[in-house]
Amino acid sequence: MNYFLTEQQKSIREIARRIAEEKIMPVRAHLDETGEFPWDILKELAAADMFRVFIPVEFGGLGGGCLDLCLVAEELARACCGVATSYIVNALGCMTLIEYGNDDQKRNYLPDIASGQRLTAFAITEPTAGSDSANIQTTAEKVDGGYLLNGTKRFITNGGEAEIYTIIALTDQSKGARGASAILVEKDTPGFTFGKKEMKMGIRASATRELVFHNCLVPEGNLVGKPGHGFIQAMRLFDKSRPGIGAVAVGLCQGAMEAAVEYAGQRIQFDQPIIALPVVQQMLADMAIQTEAARALVHAAAKYVDSGARDASEFSAAAKVFASDAAMKITVDAVQVCGGSGYMHDYPVEKMMRDAKILQIYEGTNQILRGVVATGLRKRKGKVACT
Ligand SMILES: Cc1cc2nc3c(=O)[nH]c(=O)nc-3n(C[C@H](O)[C@H](O)[C@H](O)COP(=O)(O)OP(=O)(O)OC[C@H]3O[C@@H](n4cnc5c(N)ncnc54)[C@H](O)[C@@H]3O)c2cc1C
Repeated sequence: MNYFLTEQQKSIREIARRIAEEKIMPVRAHLDETGEFPWDILKELAAADMFRVFIPVEFGGLGGGCLDLCLVAEELARACCGVATSYIVNALGCMTLIEYGNDDQKRNYLPDIASGQRLTAFAITEPTAGSDSANIQTTAEKVDGGYLLNGTKRFITNGGEAEIYTIIALTDQSKGARGASAILVEKDTPGFTFGKKEMKMGIRASATRELVFHNCLVPEGNLVGKPGHGFIQAMRLFDKSRPGIGAVAVGLCQGAMEAAVEYAGQRIQFDQPIIALPVVQQMLADMAIQTEAARALVHAAAKYVDSGARDASEFSAAAKVFASDAAMKITVDAVQVCGGSGYMHDYPVEKMMRDAKILQIYEGTNQILRGVVATGLRKRKGKVACT
């Protein structure tokens, strides 16, 4: 399919594809096995300007948008979903700053993020606030000299590895989520520590940790946007970031499909390659159809976000849900096509199947996001929403 990408977008995609094939594919099984954080690969991405893609030009970036980010994420995820997750969550970690930060904050942080020198993370989830993300308990009390943070964030991607954290915390406890604000916290701030690295089913190259704040004092100037607007900023942010998770899913669909086609072409049973069997062809054809449909929806949602539309919730949610459900189905089917070999560590589809599951869970579970789509549908009384 021709998505009529610009020359810059094609070039970004080519660079990401080259790094994925030359640097990620050879080590992905090792990263999965050890859970090692992929610093060497992130450095390669930084050297190739991949962290600049979505940062405004005036702060050292290439000035691209959601679609540009999706193109990189898809290529990385075709090779390894764990690496792609570390990359895409870095974008989530600094989107609040890009969207709502003041000039001083942007000048202070964005050039280092663009160069890949400093990685970022985003933290809203807590033990009591998962799908019910409005139920956060972490506080950021206004005191002399800044904000005093207390509380625990859970399941935070890039936790412990990132240098800069966007934390959603209550600056006014009496108002609940309406009293939440976004606050930047740097890694070595006294009172800020990390829990153990989580042992995960998949995306094992990505780091997931608890963030613990105990009387952690951050300067007043670290509050991003308006006090009390942190929760709504986070929800708007997810509208912009979810196509990126959809793109990770599309990359995974593509990688699993390629592995299944290759295996089916080589595996001989009943004196013929199994790809000659109609039942296998049907499975591979379904993979191709679902992958391209997911890609088209993700591109459309990303372009809608890039148009500046303020009602992107439904489309972003739809793209993430469709693509991640497709990734789950395609990776399960890819294991099936590869038979017993597909079940073994030696073949990439086993890892891909484990990696796929998280895409239906993080950045809003697919049940919650179907609720977002249903809300839009109700508002429009079922009418078509495209323009
Ligand atoms: C590997 C990993 C990385 C993550 N990275 C980050 C990160 O970087 N930053 C961050 O802030 N968070 C992160 N998260 C948190 C993630 O977004 C949450 O796990 C997710 O939103 C679900 O919350 P929960 O795990 O508490 O599940 P729960 O909310 O407890 O949900 C459990 C089940 O109940 C269902 N459910 C709950 N409420 C409803 C409802 N109203 N309607 C229908 N179904 C419902 C859910 O869909 C789910 O199936 C990460 C999580 C994981 C596992």
